[in-house]
Amino acid sequence: MHRSELTVDLGAFRRNVRRLLGALEGAELWAVVKANGYGHGAADVSRAALAEGASALCLATVAEALVLRLEFPGVRLIVMGPTTPDEVAAAREARLELTVVSDGEIPEGLPVHIKLDTGMGRWGLAELPGTPVHVVGLMTHFATADTDLGFAAEQLERFVAATAAHAHLTRHVANSAAALRLPSARLDAARCGLALYGLSPFGGDPAQEGLEPVLAWRSYLARVVRLAPGESTGYGRRFLADRETWIGVAPVGYADGFRRDLTGTEVLVLGERRRVVGTISMDAFAIELPHELPVGAPVTLLGEGLLAEEHARVAETITYELVTGVNSDPTRARRTTVDA
Ligand SMILES: *Cc1c(COP(=O)(O)O)cnc(C)c1O
Repeated sequence: MHRSELTVDLGAFRRNVRRLLGALEGAELWAVVKANGYGHGAADVSRAALAEGASALCLATVAEALVLRLEFPGVRLIVMGPTTPDEVAAAREARLELTVVSDGEIPEGLPVHIKLDTGMGRWGLAELPGTPVHVVGLMTHFATADTDLGFAAEQLERFVAATAAHAHLTRHVANSAAALRLPSARLDAARCGLALYGLSPFGGDPAQEGLEPVLAWRSYLARVVRLAPGESTGYGRRFLADRETWIGVAPVGYADGFRRDLTGTEVLVLGERRRVVGTISMDAFAIELPHELPVGAPVTLLGEGLLAEEHARVAETITYELVTGVNSDPTRARRTTVDA
């Protein structure tokens, strides 16, 4: 057993791709694999997405796309974030597609997408510039597809009006939430990330959306200790035993992505739900046990029915932040893929 063992279920991932393709009813699916495939390993999930019918890969940065170019010489790689002028030459050389997200020069010599700001108030142009020939796509991004479909529909309306004269270009606006809940947003292609990883854009149980979690995360009890009443575990003595209490220590902490604000969440020890207690430290956290359990007992941090959505609620964050924060660096974790 490794201290931090990550298992990526590519079978589940492929089923999620098919679920999305079904929902898109003919629109292209572009797999968003930025941030190392939302922490799952960009190359592995990209291969699976393409094999199931995704027709392009979307990244946030030129550097992310250049890494994938080595593995996928013939695939469309679309950089959605801003680029600096000194990145354009490398992007051209690697046959990347870039996105224009603010006013200024439109890079030349490679395919370009133009992003319109229709209400996100972040990236995007207020209106379409005269579109040069190498513009291949027009896009916008929703601020509230997961929480307020009314506002998303307003954004869509603005986008459709602004781009009506350019219906020959690929128009793409939908993220996972819109692909699942706003059929009119499917247009020519949808840029889906979160749902492919089996996480619900709506924060609930992914099974309700027909999605299966892809990432499992396991560790083990590296120490089991009995606290007498009045004794404590962890920094700041934030967990104080009021009676004899068995504590298991897992050798994983916030440097591995098990965030410090996950105190109070549940993990599985030998398959049973147990509470995380005390302050989570950089390389360890404590679990309250019902009685003495053997050192080496498996601890599940994610998977086997334990949902990232539950941890996200405890940490008052979103699953995007949790999974992109899981540290898969080989000095900290062992990541393997299965195809179940
Ligand atoms: C990350 C991102 C997406 C994917 O969003 P999900 O909610 O993960 O599906 C789509 N479009 C843009 C511009 C993004 O930055």
